[in-house]
Amino acid sequence: MTLVVQKYGGSSVADAECVQRVARRVVAARKAGHDVVVVVSAMGDTTDELLDLADRISTGPAGRELDMLLTAGERISMSLLAMAVTELGHHATSFTGSQAGVFTDAAHGRARIVDVAPARIHAALAAGSVVIVAGFQGIAQDTQDVTTLGRGGSDTTAVALAAALGADLCEIYTDVDGVFTADPRIVPTARPIAEIGYDEMLELAAHGAKILHSRCVEFAKRYQVPLRVRSSFADDIDDPASPAGTHITSAATPRAATTVATTTVATTTIAATEGTTDHAMEDPLISGIAHDRSQSKITVLGIPDKPGAAATVFTALAEAGCDIDMIVQNVSADATSCTDISFTLSASATPAALDALQGIEANIGFCGLRHDDRVGKLSVVGAGMRSHPGVSAALFSALAETGVNIQMISTSEIRISVVVHVDDLEAAVAAAHTAFGLDSDQIEAVVYGGTGR
Ligand code: ASP
Ligand code: MG
Repeated sequence: MTLVVQKYGGSSVADAECVQRVARRVVAARKAGHDVVVVVSAMGDTTDELLDLADRISTGPAGRELDMLLTAGERISMSLLAMAVTELGHHATSFTGSQAGVFTDAAHGRARIVDVAPARIHAALAAGSVVIVAGFQGIAQDTQDVTTLGRGGSDTTAVALAAALGADLCEIYTDVDGVFTADPRIVPTARPIAEIGYDEMLELAAHGAKILHSRCVEFAKRYQVPLRVRSSFADDIDDPASPAGTHITSAATPRAATTVATTTVATTTIAATEGTTDHAMEDPLISGIAHDRSQSKITVLGIPDKPGAAATVFTALAEAGCDIDMIVQNVSADATSCTDISFTLSASATPAALDALQGIEANIGFCGLRHDDRVGKLSVVGAGMRSHPGVSAALFSALAETGVNIQMISTSEIRISVVVHVDDLEAAVAAAHTAFGLDSDQIEAVVYGGTGR
């Protein structure tokens, strides 16, 4: 017998019918002989609706009360699912995050899990029950107050429980058939990815792929929890062992579900790797492309090019709680010994960042501030690029041919990101997808549900 943790997202439990569909899946896994722990999100857009409601009542609700409100969403779906499973003749017990032993720090709205003590889960499993846990929530070890883990946090709950329970597999059920080479809502010819490594998945998730919470992938990597992303709507319910979906493990060779295409870039690469690995013909250079519209860009103009300037700027931003992503600084102009620094950050942090920078203007003496919310980030991710030259050139050429201007560039070992005008983002993603030979010749992605909100 194996222990499986299954997580169902909001669109998978959006209404009574969906909850019943999920119950049938859970029961199928149970009948196949597995111990099953289920983690659920709030139904559909419940979390957003609760936030809207709070917004109408308070301009700045206390984090404690907001968390108390939001955790109610997952309580609704957990209890309904327990009822639905019971209706199918199987015993089911639901637990809130705190009952399930999910202990966090006290940072309301973005709490981090510090410990999982799943005694009640073990007991319920031993008694033959299906266990259903409310995702996205826990209890603060110090204050005993209810906390939430941040938007999309149910994925993290699932992986944390899988790690604590020593589960054999953690399945993340969603409204598409797995992880795709790009968001199929933007690139209809995106392909399903059969297998991908934690590192690449982490880069995709951290740079805008919404299919998985990046903290969940980090957690899975740290505790080596095998993850699988699949659809709760697909027709493979009778076969819980069907290979459908995307498998995420450390062992994964980056592999798309089908062969590599024939663009110049991909062909050169295949030639370069031929003979070095058995899978050379299968391994795409690039695993996938993520995009992110949630950032904005700030430029500090004419800042003195001397030691301490950047430190002052970024200390002020850190103290204001701004999470900075890309940073670009140019060489200084000879005449002025001044330079410009641009950076991106989440759009919601822009007002706080501008305030913080205005606060240090007198002290540091820069010439001006510019900010631009109309930006989008595209990230090309692939472990294969570690050992292959020409990936940046291929990306930049594809963007040039599409007439897309690049505003900023940053790279990691396995990623190249560019910031472009937000109106160019979709065209840029499509162009890069084609250039790296990722297009499928048929439409493979089915988006079953979700409003994409
Ligand atoms: N319901 C929460 C949200 O919408 C948590 C989750 O879905 O993972 O962010
Ligand atoms: Mg959700």
